[in-house]
Amino acid sequence: MATILYGKPAAEAVLTDVKHEVEEVTRIRGVTPTLAVVLIGRDVGSTIYVDRKRSAAADTGIATRDHLFPDGLTEDRALTLVRELNADPGVHGILVQLPLPKGMNEGRVLEAISPEKDVDGFHPENLGRLMLGTPTMVPCTPAGIMAILDHYEIPLAGKRAVVIGRSRIVGKPVAQLLLARDCTVTMAHSKTRDLPGVARQADVLVVATGRARLVGADYVKEGATVIDVGINRLPTGKVVGDVDFDAVASRASAITPVPGGVGLMTVAMLMRNTVRACRQQTGA
Ligand code: NAD
Repeated sequence: MATILYGKPAAEAVLTDVKHEVEEVTRIRGVTPTLAVVLIGRDVGSTIYVDRKRSAAADTGIATRDHLFPDGLTEDRALTLVRELNADPGVHGILVQLPLPKGMNEGRVLEAISPEKDVDGFHPENLGRLMLGTPTMVPCTPAGIMAILDHYEIPLAGKRAVVIGRSRIVGKPVAQLLLARDCTVTMAHSKTRDLPGVARQADVLVVATGRARLVGADYVKEGATVIDVGINRLPTGKVVGDVDFDAVASRASAITPVPGGVGLMTVAMLMRNTVRACRQQTGA
């Protein structure tokens, strides 16, 4: 039976560090790290995520400023708001909760955020720096995956990593981070031929597809580490990952649970990015 890589202790370790950093910045600079939270529309999932982020901020001493528009906002107004927040020295990080309502151009809104306040790490400049191997603001879920691997001291250098899923927010950045840690990385996706065969080459298998229980035991090499990023709600209401946990846990040496794994890390890394953004902007 695999070791279960619970997110809670790893996230708590990150949040404890963040709390100390916040105290230090406040002491040295007299500044409270501040995160602007922009939520447009009434997406139920987004409302829950934003509540969790606000609560983690409060626990670590980070201030939040809400910009909530349940009845929607035109794209032009959203762009104006982002520009105002960019110019506001009292705001160190800007979180625009995704997805934006249909009809709004997510790319345009995200690209309007100034790179140093882009605590989600989705701005092309920040993604470009990650690709160049000189990251500044790293997307939160990929950063959280690396933090959980490090917390449980999973060796990476020279290992074979396979990432299933090539999204801008998870698959591509995590592949870059694994590469930067000297893994030999393969990226797989919906058009990959013989996906189980490719996945079976992995010492470290990261799955981010949004397909409930796609990955069964036949995808996993004996002794592999499996990181399940997926969050899928079944018609029964149960939340499961992209990995068939019970089937894979008997083959893997380590596996993250869903819920209770990577998801907890994402919020913690957002807090870390916010305090780092504040330090960068205030020289603390
Ligand atoms: P996405 O829809 O943007 O991308 C999915 C990727 O998976 C695509 O690149 C696609 O090629 C690939 N894919 C889809 N079906 C496939 C298949 N049958 N075989 C192989 N590859 C396939 O998704 P995303 O935004 O990267 O999110 C992926 C999952 O991770 C979702 O369940 C999402 O809810 C979850 N997620 C979790 C967190 C967290 O904090 N834990 C954060 C972000 C996303």
